[in-house]
Amino acid sequence: MSNLIEASDLVKTYASRRSLFGKPSMVRAVDGVSLSVAPATTLGIVGESGSGKSTMGRLLLGLETPTEGSVQFDGQAMPPLETAAWRKHRARMQLVFQDPLAALDRRLPIGQQIGEPLAVHGIGTDAERRERVSSLLAAVGLRRDQESSYPHQLSGGQRQRVVIARAIASDPQLLVCDEPVSALDVSIQAQVVNLLRDLQETRGIAMGFISHDLKVVRNVADRVAVMYLGRIVEEASSEDIFREPLHPYTRALVSSVPVPGAALRDRVILRGEPPNPAARPSGCAFHPRCSVAVARCRIEVPLLKPVDEGRKAACHLLDTQTDDTLSGR
Ligand code: SF4
Repeated sequence: MSNLIEASDLVKTYASRRSLFGKPSMVRAVDGVSLSVAPATTLGIVGESGSGKSTMGRLLLGLETPTEGSVQFDGQAMPPLETAAWRKHRARMQLVFQDPLAALDRRLPIGQQIGEPLAVHGIGTDAERRERVSSLLAAVGLRRDQESSYPHQLSGGQRQRVVIARAIASDPQLLVCDEPVSALDVSIQAQVVNLLRDLQETRGIAMGFISHDLKVVRNVADRVAVMYLGRIVEEASSEDIFREPLHPYTRALVSSVPVPGAALRDRVILRGEPPNPAARPSGCAFHPRCSVAVARCRIEVPLLKPVDEGRKAACHLLDTQTDDTLSGR
């Protein structure tokens, strides 16, 4: 099956804020990332804050222009931002934000907001759009008579359902969901995740699901890419990642996720905070926090390499060439 979206060697740099006397330095928010999403599947993109996962989502949608590298959507290069060709692509790719209240216009009834993409992309007649808004409300579990409600009259979970209805209005092939449930009560999170999963199954939508919360990702992703300081450190099927995480960073993240019915794993505590992306540690960027780091880790950047069927990781200890290093520990 060919991929719906493919990112190759993406780099995104930003100028960091200038200190009182210093010059701004360039920060690599995304640093050489390649990934792909097959139609009707979900790629979870996980990592702590500052890992570059949200920037990655915006690069996939063409909302940011990469400093280096390229994105192909459905076999075509992503057109430059705000061109007519890009707007045509955008109808097929949508973004669901973390904060539904910020994503919605408080002055407009939700029915009008759900129908907005249809009007913008000239889809259907007025009557057809009204009918489509009604069916979208039903598809996301809202009542049809709620179309005249305003965002402040709805709960947080209902507002996120409105955002999702608007996102699927133009029948997109790809949804990028950036922390779509982290602003919601835990009791509501599962309902919204189930809704996204159902919509994906019934409509065959591919999803990029960005989250710091592995509990949520476990329930939704087919594959998972783990990011640390702008790079992918491990990528594998969701089953492999949660059954047998290989990279020490992935192991620490996964060990904090309780598995229903299973004994608690030995918890791997992550030491310290993620480093400032403007002051990237030498060698493996994870080495100051890694409990199994060896001398080589401070000097040499580990490359993301295949370690198994359908699985890649970037760690010197997983590299078969490291025998000498290991025996010299
Ligand atoms: Fe830890 Fe070294 Fe592997 Fe990095 S390369 S994760 S520091 S063991």
